[in-house]
Amino acid sequence: MTGIIHFGNTSFAYDVFHVSRKTMEIAVHPNKQVVVKAPLGTLRDEIESRLKKRARWVLHQIDFFQQFEPRTPARRFVSGETHLYLGRQYRLKVVRSNTNQVKMTRGRIVVEIDGEILPERVSEYLEDWYRTRARQYFQACLEKCAQDFIRKGYGLPNLQIKKMLTRWGSLSRNATLTLNLSLMHAPPECIEYVITHELCHIKYDDHSLGFYRYLERLMPDWEKRKRKLELALA
Ligand SMILES: [Zn+2]
Repeated sequence: MTGIIHFGNTSFAYDVFHVSRKTMEIAVHPNKQVVVKAPLGTLRDEIESRLKKRARWVLHQIDFFQQFEPRTPARRFVSGETHLYLGRQYRLKVVRSNTNQVKMTRGRIVVEIDGEILPERVSEYLEDWYRTRARQYFQACLEKCAQDFIRKGYGLPNLQIKKMLTRWGSLSRNATLTLNLSLMHAPPECIEYVITHELCHIKYDDHSLGFYRYLERLMPDWEKRKRKLELALA
């Protein structure tokens, strides 16, 4: 069972595990997940009323763990928040509507929600939108960056998009290029760098001198792009 607690002008999500125990326990994990262990048969109302009483403490714990995660600032998915798209900042606008859709207009990303506006729904629609855009954008980038390989007779790798915590991309032996969805936040030249780096693995398995010589030839300014990527999404 999961849910959301609204408190003041903020909110947090929680997960409930019904277990064989006598009392309720609330914990905030370092990944900022709020976990409630409740005795079997505990009703949602009881759980939520307890969470509301302890909301201040829960939010304090979330803030505490947040400071150790500078790479993923807590997104609240509310109007006014800034979101990155291809290296540029856009203001998020969440509006109630009779359809669910995401649009980009005049420097804003507008999320229209049919029904109750919940951060988790906004986040979900936004992610779908990023993913749809990523499929087109990454594919076009891949075709552009792969010119040299295609001339040499290599086939174009299949593209796969994933949310990954620790890497920007990877190339598998069956020629599938996996790119991190988060790259859609990065400037275009940085996306090209990641793709070119992965493409070089078509010829070199490792990060040997030969690999870097080849990368350098295809993209002489790759180091600059790499630094920019690290700064942009730090
Ligand atoms: Zn590599």
